[in-house]
Amino acid sequence: MSEDPTLKPSTLAVTAGRPPHDPDQPLNQPLVMASTYVAGGDLEYGRYGNPTWQAFEDALGALEGGSCLAFSSGLAAVSTVLDLVGQGAKVVAPRHAYQGSIMQLADLESRGRLVVSLVDVTDTAAVVAACDDAALVWLESPTNPALEIADIETITAAAHDAGAYVVVDNTFATPLLQTPLDLGADLVVHSATKFLAGHSDALLGAIVTRDDQLQQVLKGRRDLVGATPGTMEAWLALRGLRTLHLRVERAQANAQELVRRLGEHPAVGEVRYPGFGAIVAIVLAQGAVAADLLVRKTALWVHATSLGGVESTFERRRRWKTEAATIPEGLVRMSVGIEDVDDLWDDLRKALDGVVG
Ligand SMILES: *Cc1c(COP(=O)(O)O)cnc(C)c1O
Repeated sequence: MSEDPTLKPSTLAVTAGRPPHDPDQPLNQPLVMASTYVAGGDLEYGRYGNPTWQAFEDALGALEGGSCLAFSSGLAAVSTVLDLVGQGAKVVAPRHAYQGSIMQLADLESRGRLVVSLVDVTDTAAVVAACDDAALVWLESPTNPALEIADIETITAAAHDAGAYVVVDNTFATPLLQTPLDLGADLVVHSATKFLAGHSDALLGAIVTRDDQLQQVLKGRRDLVGATPGTMEAWLALRGLRTLHLRVERAQANAQELVRRLGEHPAVGEVRYPGFGAIVAIVLAQGAVAADLLVRKTALWVHATSLGGVESTFERRRRWKTEAATIPEGLVRMSVGIEDVDDLWDDLRKALDGVVG
Protein backbone atom coordinates (compact mmCIF):
# COMPACT_ATOMS: atom_id res chain seq x y z
CA MET A 1 0.00 0.00 0.00
CA SER A 2 1.54 3.39 -0.90
CA GLU A 3 1.51 5.88 1.93
CA ASP A 4 0.27 9.47 2.07
CA PRO A 5 3.50 11.49 1.65
CA THR A 6 2.23 14.33 3.85
CA LEU A 7 2.13 12.14 6.96
CA LYS A 8 4.78 12.76 9.61
CA PRO A 9 7.35 10.05 10.46
CA SER A 10 5.77 9.20 13.84
CA THR A 11 2.47 8.55 12.09
CA LEU A 12 4.13 6.47 9.37
CA ALA A 13 5.97 4.39 11.98
CA VAL A 14 2.56 3.41 13.35
CA THR A 15 0.45 3.21 10.18
CA ALA A 16 2.65 2.15 7.24
CA GLY A 17 2.63 -1.48 6.15
CA ARG A 18 -0.80 -2.30 7.62
CA PRO A 19 -3.50 -4.43 6.00
CA PRO A 20 -6.40 -2.39 4.50
CA HIS A 21 -9.12 -1.14 6.91
CA ASP A 22 -11.69 -3.68 5.73
CA PRO A 23 -14.05 -5.68 7.93
CA ASP A 24 -12.37 -8.67 9.60
CA GLN A 25 -8.91 -7.71 8.36
CA PRO A 26 -6.36 -8.06 11.15
CA LEU A 27 -4.88 -4.72 12.26
CA ASN A 28 -1.40 -6.17 12.04
CA GLN A 29 0.22 -8.06 9.21
CA PRO A 30 0.22 -11.69 10.44
CA LEU A 31 3.20 -13.99 10.33
CA VAL A 32 2.94 -15.86 7.05
CA MET A 33 5.09 -18.96 7.39
CA ALA A 34 5.29 -20.29 3.85
CA SER A 35 8.06 -21.79 1.74
CA THR A 36 5.85 -22.04 -1.34
CA TYR A 37 2.58 -20.64 -2.71
CA VAL A 38 -0.10 -21.95 -5.06
CA ALA A 39 1.20 -21.38 -8.61
CA GLY A 40 0.01 -18.62 -10.90
CA GLY A 41 0.50 -15.56 -8.65
CA ASP A 42 3.33 -13.05 -8.05
CA LEU A 43 5.09 -14.87 -5.22
CA GLU A 44 5.39 -18.53 -6.33
CA TYR A 45 8.22 -19.49 -3.94
CA GLY A 46 9.32 -18.44 -0.45
CA ARG A 47 12.64 -17.01 -1.63
CA TYR A 48 10.92 -14.55 -3.98
CA GLY A 49 8.65 -12.84 -1.48
CA ASN A 50 6.53 -13.00 1.63
CA PRO A 51 3.63 -10.83 2.86
CA THR A 52 5.29 -10.38 6.27
CA TRP A 53 8.57 -9.14 4.74
CA GLN A 54 6.53 -6.90 2.48
CA ALA A 55 4.78 -5.21 5.40
CA PHE A 56 8.15 -4.44 7.03
CA GLU A 57 9.49 -3.19 3.68
CA ASP A 58 6.48 -0.94 3.16
CA ALA A 59 6.91 0.60 6.60
CA LEU A 60 10.68 1.21 6.37
CA GLY A 61 10.31 2.36 2.75
CA ALA A 62 7.73 4.94 3.86
CA LEU A 63 10.07 6.22 6.59
CA GLU A 64 13.15 6.49 4.34
CA GLY A 65 11.15 7.77 1.37
CA GLY A 66 11.99 4.99 -1.07
CA SER A 67 11.40 1.40 -1.97
CA CYS A 68 12.76 -1.12 0.53
CA LEU A 69 14.08 -4.68 0.36
CA ALA A 70 14.69 -6.69 3.53
CA PHE A 71 17.71 -9.00 3.88
CA SER A 72 18.76 -11.71 6.30
CA SER A 73 21.10 -9.31 8.14
CA GLY A 74 22.69 -5.90 7.83
CA LEU A 75 25.82 -7.52 6.42
CA ALA A 76 23.81 -9.43 3.80
CA ALA A 77 22.49 -6.02 2.68
CA VAL A 78 26.04 -4.58 2.68
CA SER A 79 27.33 -7.50 0.63
CA THR A 80 24.48 -7.16 -1.88
CA VAL A 81 25.31 -3.48 -2.42
CA LEU A 82 29.06 -4.15 -2.80
CA ASP A 83 28.20 -6.82 -5.34
CA LEU A 84 26.84 -4.08 -7.63
CA VAL A 85 30.37 -2.73 -8.12
CA GLY A 86 32.08 -3.82 -11.32
CA GLN A 87 35.21 -5.98 -11.34
CA GLY A 88 38.29 -4.00 -10.19
CA ALA A 89 36.36 -0.77 -9.61
CA LYS A 90 37.12 1.66 -6.78
CA VAL A 91 35.07 2.02 -3.61
CA VAL A 92 35.59 4.98 -1.26
CA ALA A 93 34.74 4.20 2.37
CA PRO A 94 35.27 5.70 5.85
CA ARG A 95 38.38 4.52 7.72
CA HIS A 96 36.11 4.32 10.77
CA ALA A 97 32.95 2.41 9.93
CA TYR A 98 31.09 -0.68 10.96
CA GLN A 99 33.81 -3.30 11.30
CA GLY A 100 31.92 -5.93 9.29
CA SER A 101 31.58 -3.55 6.33
CA ILE A 102 35.30 -2.71 6.47
CA MET A 103 36.12 -6.42 6.69
CA GLN A 104 33.98 -7.19 3.64
CA LEU A 105 35.76 -4.45 1.70
CA ALA A 106 39.17 -5.76 2.79
CA ASP A 107 38.18 -9.29 1.82
CA LEU A 108 36.99 -8.21 -1.63
CA GLU A 109 40.14 -6.14 -2.16
CA SER A 110 42.42 -9.02 -1.11
CA ARG A 111 40.78 -11.21 -3.75
CA GLY A 112 41.24 -8.57 -6.47
CA ARG A 113 37.51 -8.01 -6.72
CA LEU A 114 37.68 -4.25 -6.08
CA VAL A 115 39.98 -1.44 -4.93
CA VAL A 116 39.28 0.31 -1.63
CA SER A 117 40.20 3.86 -0.67
CA LEU A 118 39.66 4.56 3.04
CA VAL A 119 39.07 8.21 3.95
CA ASP A 120 38.51 10.45 6.95
CA VAL A 121 34.85 11.38 6.33
CA THR A 122 35.21 14.64 8.27
CA ASP A 123 37.74 15.84 5.69
CA THR A 124 35.21 16.71 2.97
CA ALA A 125 37.85 17.96 0.50
CA ALA A 126 39.79 14.68 0.77
CA VAL A 127 36.63 12.61 0.31
CA VAL A 128 35.61 14.69 -2.70
CA ALA A 129 39.09 14.21 -4.21
CA ALA A 130 38.86 10.45 -3.63
CA CYS A 131 35.49 10.30 -5.43
CA ASP A 132 37.17 11.16 -8.71
CA ASP A 133 37.60 7.69 -10.21
CA ALA A 134 35.26 5.82 -7.84
CA ALA A 135 32.31 3.60 -8.75
CA LEU A 136 30.78 3.64 -5.27
CA VAL A 137 31.09 5.93 -2.27
CA TRP A 138 30.21 4.23 0.99
CA LEU A 139 29.24 6.55 3.83
CA GLU A 140 28.42 6.18 7.47
CA SER A 141 27.39 9.25 9.41
CA PRO A 142 27.75 9.21 12.37
CA THR A 143 30.61 6.74 11.97
CA ASN A 144 31.04 3.71 14.19
CA PRO A 145 32.47 4.01 16.79
CA ALA A 146 34.21 7.39 16.34
CA LEU A 147 30.88 9.26 15.86
CA GLU A 148 32.27 11.51 13.12
CA ILE A 149 29.88 13.35 10.82
CA ALA A 150 30.16 13.44 7.01
CA ASP A 151 28.83 16.23 4.80
CA ILE A 152 26.55 13.81 2.91
CA GLU A 153 25.12 16.43 0.56
CA THR A 154 28.46 17.84 -0.64
CA ILE A 155 30.08 14.42 -0.96
CA THR A 156 27.07 13.04 -2.83
CA ALA A 157 27.11 15.90 -5.34
CA ALA A 158 30.83 15.32 -6.00
CA ALA A 159 30.35 11.55 -6.28
CA HIS A 160 27.54 12.00 -8.79
CA ASP A 161 29.70 14.38 -10.85
CA ALA A 162 32.26 11.57 -10.96
CA GLY A 163 29.58 9.05 -11.99
CA ALA A 164 29.69 7.14 -8.68
CA TYR A 165 26.78 5.79 -6.68
CA VAL A 166 26.46 6.83 -3.04
CA VAL A 167 25.24 4.55 -0.29
CA VAL A 168 24.68 5.65 3.31
CA ASP A 169 24.57 3.17 6.18
CA ASN A 170 21.83 4.89 8.23
CA THR A 171 21.81 2.43 11.13
CA PHE A 172 23.01 4.92 13.78
CA ALA A 173 20.77 7.86 12.81
CA THR A 174 17.60 5.96 11.82
CA PRO A 175 15.21 7.58 9.29
CA LEU A 176 13.79 9.69 12.13
CA LEU A 177 16.99 11.72 12.48
CA GLN A 178 18.35 11.56 8.91
CA THR A 179 16.92 10.59 5.52
CA PRO A 180 19.92 10.20 3.18
CA LEU A 181 17.79 9.79 0.02
CA ASP A 182 16.59 13.37 0.60
CA LEU A 183 20.26 14.44 0.72
CA GLY A 184 20.86 12.87 -2.70
CA ALA A 185 22.13 9.40 -1.78
CA ASP A 186 21.22 6.57 -4.16
CA LEU A 187 20.96 3.83 -1.56
CA VAL A 188 20.39 3.52 2.17
CA VAL A 189 21.53 0.45 4.06
CA HIS A 190 20.30 -0.60 7.49
CA SER A 191 21.14 -3.11 10.12
CA ALA A 192 17.50 -3.40 11.24
CA THR A 193 18.96 -5.55 14.02
CA LYS A 194 19.69 -2.31 15.89
CA PHE A 195 17.28 0.63 16.44
CA LEU A 196 14.62 -0.42 13.92
CA ALA A 197 13.86 -3.77 15.55
CA GLY A 198 15.08 -2.27 18.81
CA HIS A 199 14.76 -5.14 21.29
CA SER A 200 18.01 -7.11 20.81
CA ASP A 201 16.15 -10.20 19.64
CA ALA A 202 16.41 -10.37 15.84
CA LEU A 203 18.95 -10.04 13.00
CA LEU A 204 17.68 -8.27 9.90
CA GLY A 205 18.97 -5.94 7.18
CA ALA A 206 17.48 -3.64 4.57
CA ILE A 207 18.29 -1.57 1.49
CA VAL A 208 16.17 1.40 0.40
CA THR A 209 16.35 3.25 -2.94
CA ARG A 210 14.28 5.51 -5.20
CA ASP A 211 15.96 4.14 -8.32
CA ASP A 212 13.65 1.51 -9.86
CA GLN A 213 16.43 -0.02 -11.91
CA LEU A 214 18.70 -0.43 -8.87
CA GLN A 215 15.78 -1.84 -6.92
CA GLN A 216 15.19 -4.49 -9.58
CA VAL A 217 18.86 -5.46 -9.72
CA LEU A 218 19.00 -5.75 -5.92
CA LYS A 219 15.81 -7.82 -5.81
CA GLY A 220 17.30 -10.06 -8.50
CA ARG A 221 20.45 -10.51 -6.40
CA ARG A 222 18.42 -11.34 -3.30
CA ASP A 223 16.44 -13.95 -5.23
CA LEU A 224 19.59 -15.37 -6.78
CA VAL A 225 21.83 -15.68 -3.73
CA GLY A 226 19.05 -16.28 -1.21
CA ALA A 227 20.00 -13.52 1.27
CA THR A 228 16.36 -13.50 2.33
CA PRO A 229 15.02 -12.34 5.70
CA GLY A 230 13.55 -14.71 8.22
CA THR A 231 9.78 -14.25 8.43
CA MET A 232 9.76 -14.16 12.22
CA GLU A 233 12.58 -11.60 12.19
CA ALA A 234 10.72 -9.35 9.75
CA TRP A 235 7.62 -9.58 11.94
CA LEU A 236 9.58 -8.73 15.09
CA ALA A 237 11.28 -5.81 13.36
CA LEU A 238 7.95 -4.44 12.17
CA ARG A 239 6.58 -4.73 15.69
CA GLY A 240 9.67 -2.89 16.95
CA LEU A 241 9.32 -0.20 14.28
CA ARG A 242 5.89 0.77 15.61
CA THR A 243 7.55 2.42 18.64
CA LEU A 244 10.73 3.62 16.91
CA HIS A 245 9.87 7.30 17.36
CA LEU A 246 9.16 6.90 21.10
CA ARG A 247 12.28 4.83 21.71
CA VAL A 248 14.59 7.12 19.72
CA GLU A 249 13.16 10.23 21.40
CA ARG A 250 13.66 8.82 24.89
CA ALA A 251 17.05 7.22 24.22
CA GLN A 252 18.30 10.44 22.62
CA ALA A 253 17.10 12.56 25.56
CA ASN A 254 18.86 10.14 27.94
CA ALA A 255 22.03 10.30 25.83
CA GLN A 256 22.06 14.10 25.81
CA GLU A 257 21.68 14.23 29.59
CA LEU A 258 24.36 11.58 30.15
CA VAL A 259 26.76 13.45 27.84
CA ARG A 260 26.43 16.52 30.10
CA ARG A 261 27.11 14.50 33.24
CA LEU A 262 29.88 12.34 31.77
CA GLY A 263 31.84 15.42 30.70
CA GLU A 264 32.28 16.41 34.34
CA HIS A 265 33.53 13.07 35.64
CA PRO A 266 37.30 12.92 36.30
CA ALA A 267 37.59 9.34 34.97
CA VAL A 268 36.36 10.48 31.54
CA GLY A 269 39.04 12.06 29.34
CA GLU A 270 36.81 12.73 26.34
CA VAL A 271 33.14 12.47 25.39
CA ARG A 272 32.23 12.03 21.73
CA TYR A 273 28.66 12.77 20.73
CA PRO A 274 27.45 14.26 17.44
CA GLY A 275 24.57 16.11 19.14
CA PHE A 276 21.86 13.65 18.08
CA GLY A 277 21.08 9.96 18.41
CA ALA A 278 21.58 7.52 21.26
CA ILE A 279 25.17 6.37 20.70
CA VAL A 280 27.87 8.02 22.81
CA ALA A 281 31.57 7.23 23.00
CA ILE A 282 33.76 8.04 25.98
CA VAL A 283 37.52 7.74 26.19
CA LEU A 284 38.67 6.78 29.67
CA ALA A 285 41.41 9.08 30.96
CA GLN A 286 43.36 6.06 32.19
CA GLY A 287 43.03 4.02 29.00
CA ALA A 288 42.22 0.38 28.27
CA VAL A 289 42.63 -0.98 31.80
CA ALA A 290 40.20 1.58 33.20
CA ALA A 291 37.75 0.87 30.35
CA ASP A 292 37.89 -2.89 30.95
CA LEU A 293 37.27 -2.26 34.63
CA LEU A 294 34.33 0.06 33.98
CA VAL A 295 32.38 -2.39 31.81
CA ARG A 296 32.57 -5.03 34.56
CA LYS A 297 31.48 -2.76 37.42
CA THR A 298 27.92 -1.80 36.42
CA ALA A 299 24.63 -3.44 37.34
CA LEU A 300 22.22 -1.87 34.82
CA TRP A 301 24.56 -1.23 31.91
CA VAL A 302 25.18 -4.53 30.17
CA HIS A 303 28.63 -5.36 28.82
CA ALA A 304 27.67 -6.44 25.30
CA THR A 305 28.38 -5.61 21.68
CA SER A 306 25.67 -4.38 19.30
CA LEU A 307 23.48 -1.35 19.94
CA GLY A 308 20.07 0.24 19.48
CA GLY A 309 18.08 -1.90 21.93
CA VAL A 310 15.77 -0.63 24.67
CA GLU A 311 18.42 -1.64 27.22
CA SER A 312 21.65 0.31 27.77
CA THR A 313 24.76 -1.59 26.67
CA PHE A 314 28.44 -0.69 26.32
CA GLU A 315 31.80 -2.14 25.38
CA ARG A 316 35.44 -1.22 24.88
CA ARG A 317 35.73 -1.33 21.13
CA ARG A 318 39.42 -2.20 20.88
CA ARG A 319 38.71 -5.48 22.68
CA TRP A 320 38.01 -6.60 19.10
CA LYS A 321 41.28 -7.31 17.26
CA THR A 322 39.70 -6.09 14.02
CA GLU A 323 38.78 -2.60 15.27
CA ALA A 324 40.71 0.25 13.57
CA ALA A 325 44.05 1.03 15.23
CA THR A 326 43.14 4.74 15.11
CA ILE A 327 40.33 4.16 17.66
CA PRO A 328 41.71 4.89 21.17
CA GLU A 329 42.33 1.80 23.34
CA GLY A 330 40.27 3.35 26.14
CA LEU A 331 37.21 4.16 24.00
CA VAL A 332 33.94 2.74 25.30
CA ARG A 333 30.97 2.85 22.93
CA MET A 334 27.70 3.31 24.79
CA SER A 335 24.29 2.47 23.39
CA VAL A 336 21.92 4.44 25.58
CA GLY A 337 18.57 2.77 26.23
CA ILE A 338 15.20 3.99 27.41
CA GLU A 339 15.55 3.38 31.17
CA ASP A 340 15.27 6.20 33.72
CA VAL A 341 18.24 8.51 33.14
CA ASP A 342 18.96 8.99 36.86
CA ASP A 343 19.17 5.22 37.38
CA LEU A 344 21.49 4.96 34.38
CA TRP A 345 23.69 7.77 35.67
CA ASP A 346 23.85 6.43 39.25
CA ASP A 347 24.98 3.04 37.98
CA LEU A 348 27.55 4.59 35.63
CA ARG A 349 28.81 7.16 38.15
CA LYS A 350 29.47 4.52 40.81
CA ALA A 351 31.40 2.40 38.32
CA LEU A 352 33.36 5.46 37.09
CA ASP A 353 34.15 6.47 40.71
CA GLY A 354 35.53 2.96 41.21
CA VAL A 355 37.74 3.34 38.18
CA VAL A 356 39.37 6.56 39.45
CA GLY A 357 39.66 5.39 43.05
C1 LIG B 1 25.40 -3.95 13.15
C2 LIG B 1 25.72 -3.08 11.99
C3 LIG B 1 25.82 -3.59 10.70
C4 LIG B 1 25.68 -5.07 10.40
O1 LIG B 1 24.39 -5.53 10.63
P1 LIG B 1 24.02 -7.03 11.09
O2 LIG B 1 22.55 -6.96 11.19
O3 LIG B 1 24.72 -7.26 12.40
O4 LIG B 1 24.52 -7.94 10.04
C5 LIG B 1 26.07 -2.71 9.66
N1 LIG B 1 26.25 -1.39 9.89
C6 LIG B 1 26.18 -0.86 11.13
C7 LIG B 1 26.38 0.59 11.31
C8 LIG B 1 25.91 -1.68 12.23
O5 LIG B 1 25.86 -1.14 13.44
